[in-house]
Amino acid sequence: MVDCIFCKIAVGEIPSNKAYEDDQVLAFYDLDPQAPVHILIIPKGHIGSAAEITAENSRIVAHIFEVAAKLAAELKLDQGWRVVTNVGKDGGQSVLHMHFHLLGGRSMAWPPG
Ligand code: AMP
Repeated sequence: MVDCIFCKIAVGEIPSNKAYEDDQVLAFYDLDPQAPVHILIIPKGHIGSAAEITAENSRIVAHIFEVAAKLAAELKLDQGWRVVTNVGKDGGQSVLHMHFHLLGGRSMAWPPG
């Protein structure tokens, strides 16, 4: 395994506050929430960022969006929500394991900073 904090969270080596889990993905609450609801959804297998999505692995992204919609419904984010994935330095990515931020519970600004 690469030395990756989200790989360690995916296998339970580092604890997380889980919101959803199946054989392919894990969703857990962000340690530094930027909204009343701030959940990270990750593939269990290591993918560095959305820049590494190909025809071979892109199905996981559809599954992550299914999980995002399910969580948003369960958490009653009826006024709307946002999914963000940061890529690389200019994108503001700090953890190099692809993750999707599910944000909700407040009005979001656009464009993001
Ligand atoms: P990004 O800046 O897009 O790479 O997002 C990384 C996110 O991971 C940040 O929002 C961090 O607060 C969050 N984070 C880092 N370590 C942990 C952890 N151990 N448990 C939960 N969230 C974490």
